[in-house]
Amino acid sequence: MPELPDVTIYVERLRALAIGQPLEAIRIASPFVLRTVSPAPGELRGAAVESVDRLGKRIIIGVTADRYLVIHLMIAGRLRWKKRGDKLPAKVGLAAFDFPTGTLVFTEASPKKRASLHVVAGRAGLAAFDRGGLDVLAATAAQFAERLRSERHTIKRALTDPTLFDGIGNAYSDEILHAAKLSPFRMTPSIGDAEIAALHAACATTLKRWTQRLRDEVGDGFPDKVTAFRPEMAVHGKYGQPCPVCGTRVQRIVYADNEANYCPTCQTEGRLLADRSLSRLLKDDWPRSLDELDERKAQRVAPPAAAPAVAHEAEPAVAPAAAHKPSKKPRAR
Ligand SMILES: [Zn+2]
Repeated sequence: MPELPDVTIYVERLRALAIGQPLEAIRIASPFVLRTVSPAPGELRGAAVESVDRLGKRIIIGVTADRYLVIHLMIAGRLRWKKRGDKLPAKVGLAAFDFPTGTLVFTEASPKKRASLHVVAGRAGLAAFDRGGLDVLAATAAQFAERLRSERHTIKRALTDPTLFDGIGNAYSDEILHAAKLSPFRMTPSIGDAEIAALHAACATTLKRWTQRLRDEVGDGFPDKVTAFRPEMAVHGKYGQPCPVCGTRVQRIVYADNEANYCPTCQTEGRLLADRSLSRLLKDDWPRSLDELDERKAQRVAPPAAAPAVAHEAEPAVAPAAAHKPSKKPRAR
């Protein structure tokens, strides 16, 4: 899933390419992608792009008369900047936005069709898309610590929860935790002040370094290689490969839709995280799926204890087996 660094670069390039330009047409190729009925996309024809912003992992394109296109890429959604009027690719093409100087093409290389487009009138309509996650780059140390301690979770889950923190997903949380030398499975109440400060610093340095790296790669082009798996990453997607800091083989835990990669030497005092207590932890406090994370805002209204109660008893303790499974290719996302 595109995370803060990827989305930031999309936003920066869209600002450079589209601001001031009139939206000549919106072509919708997939009936699943458009999740709103009013305003109709056709009503935006001729409106000029006035702003492009990031809201969590969403991209918000503002056009004249206070109307907004809200693009959520989810896991497999991507944007491309093509020649004006380019045809939408078969199967993966969701929508195209035509400008005088080019066409923004929205694709999703997954049959799950989770990427979405909303057309919203008025800034107030955007509030529904604000998950409330703290922007770690803008937050003070005190705000970061308060948010981290506001709920009892594994750090991995806390960092990737869009209602707690903004724009961090599976890939960059692995990288951040490795940089902070913290186990992904530490529970948030047990993390001391110095560790929280290190985690906050690791969030900032990791996200800023990656944003700059992607910015340098893209230059004045458009990001067309957005992926969660990059050779320069320290641990994410690096199961079985040497940790760049200490050379220990990177380990992983695979559970539900999620995978955590970590270095045992740097992060867990040499322990492999695959015992009985871990499997219990994974059942109770692991982001089970992106869909679940996406639903959490609604769940937070209800008592949190009620949230993860779905048929856990019947599930086998998959963690120990999964942790030692021979490496498969990371799933594309
Ligand atoms: Zn290491």
